[in-house]
Amino acid sequence: MAAKKATKYIFVVGGVMSSVGKGIAAASVGKILQSRGYHVTNLKADMYVNIDAGTIRPAEHGEVFVGEDGVEADQDLGNYERFTNQTSTRENYITTGQVYAEVIRRERNLEYGGEDVEVYPDIPKEIIRRIEACQEKNKSEITIIEYGGTVGEYQLFPFLEAARMMKSKRPADVFIILISYLPTPPLLGEQKSKPTQHAVTDLYSVGLYPDFVICRADHPATLDIKRTISNVCSLPIERIISAPDVYSIYDVPVNFEKENFGNTLLKIIGLPPKRKDLADWTALAGKIKKINKEVKIGIVGKYFNFKSCKDTYISVIESVNHAAWSLGYKPNILWIDTEKYEKDKSKLKELDDLDGIIVPGGFGKRGTEGMMLAADYTRVNKIPYFGLCFGMQILTIAYARNVLGLHGANSAEMDSLTKYPVIATMADQVEKIKNKNYGGTMRLGTYPANLKKGSIAERAYGVSKISERHRHRYEVNPEYIEKLEAAGLVFSGRSPSGILMEIAELPKDKHPFYLGTQFHPEFKSRPLRPHPLFTAFLKACIGRKKF
Ligand code: GLN
Repeated sequence: MAAKKATKYIFVVGGVMSSVGKGIAAASVGKILQSRGYHVTNLKADMYVNIDAGTIRPAEHGEVFVGEDGVEADQDLGNYERFTNQTSTRENYITTGQVYAEVIRRERNLEYGGEDVEVYPDIPKEIIRRIEACQEKNKSEITIIEYGGTVGEYQLFPFLEAARMMKSKRPADVFIILISYLPTPPLLGEQKSKPTQHAVTDLYSVGLYPDFVICRADHPATLDIKRTISNVCSLPIERIISAPDVYSIYDVPVNFEKENFGNTLLKIIGLPPKRKDLADWTALAGKIKKINKEVKIGIVGKYFNFKSCKDTYISVIESVNHAAWSLGYKPNILWIDTEKYEKDKSKLKELDDLDGIIVPGGFGKRGTEGMMLAADYTRVNKIPYFGLCFGMQILTIAYARNVLGLHGANSAEMDSLTKYPVIATMADQVEKIKNKNYGGTMRLGTYPANLKKGSIAERAYGVSKISERHRHRYEVNPEYIEKLEAAGLVFSGRSPSGILMEIAELPKDKHPFYLGTQFHPEFKSRPLRPHPLFTAFLKACIGRKKF
């Protein structure tokens, strides 16, 4: 029998503080190993008790990223897909909630044979089972497991214990990367390593030793700092990797390679250093920095928080970046809170300054009247409009109100008593909503659609059959399709059954770009392969610039 191929596991754990780009670092580790010809998969383990990210407010925890199989996951899965082109599966995402739910399910089924079921070791064991299931599902040679949170956090213990149990069983296959942060207090003006030393001590206290320390900081880690950390961790200096702030996130793998990280990492995990192929990526990272022409895109946000909308709309922002860069433009993104238009319509005029607007996904009534005003203003004034899921529904309602004259038309989501429910609850959702069965029950994941010949969508894709990712409970009401089409709105994408409207658009002779999708194209854009609809939208925006 052929020997089982060695599979390697690399845990990426945070120290000092969160939000320093652990996801990008984990994705970049995947990228550099993949560029050496290895089959990698990245998985994310989140500490919260939620079963998935689908029920968490995006302003709180960032975008809900949807996989092909419909998993509603942490935004980091989007980073992994954009960096390594992996197709994330349910197995690539673990939460404390999933782990406990499964252990309790088995206990109820008498699968523990009468034993008492304990947090230790039954919880870490289930975590290990899930990590191995992810490896098995993806057939990866190297599995990179990113832990949310930072060492020392109470909820992280069972996960760290899982890493320790795996490492003690298979020391030659399991490795730890600590992502730390080096602050530079303004009064001192020099980098400090003490918080990193504490993070390393925290790791020691749970029986783990870092194999690498990645030092996030505003500037490159100085040699002195590297020496100090190297001494404290008893690690050779080449295993202390500098990760300074970057112009674009796509610089991170390139910078890692400048530190010779790929070769050292492969040496330590015991795999041969195959030839590197990062040329395309390096060229892109270089190109981005040289672009100086700007295109002004407004994103109609709904989930603003005090920091920024960057995490909430990360896939939308990245999709705009990919398409704009490919056309030689740098996007200048402005956040538009349409609630102000509800109070003062004259403010809509500010939209004239933009090259185009995007109305992304969203839920609930707040702000929607303002969005509809913006949808109508951009239609009348021929400003490019791109609606993503909710944005397509908004476009349709605004069209019904203003062109069909159905005053008060709305979505059942915003107004259950509306006289004209042009957007209605999907048939299979009615019971679910009634029973408050909200978790993981939307129309989720990949579904196919057929495109209308000669439409803007078909010309953009260059094919007549597509498949895209979804996350919604409401749909264009079949009863209004004919009326809307008779009034000039074109449903250029439909489900194979013809029942579900997947794309709405206005023809080119009516508007430079007025299009909405019931799906989320932003989940499938890649830095070197921008999404065709984003490219078509950006082309229209750039076209508007010229007049
Ligand atoms: N709230 C809308 C629906 O459920 C749109 C969802 C979304 O934008 N993802 O259909």
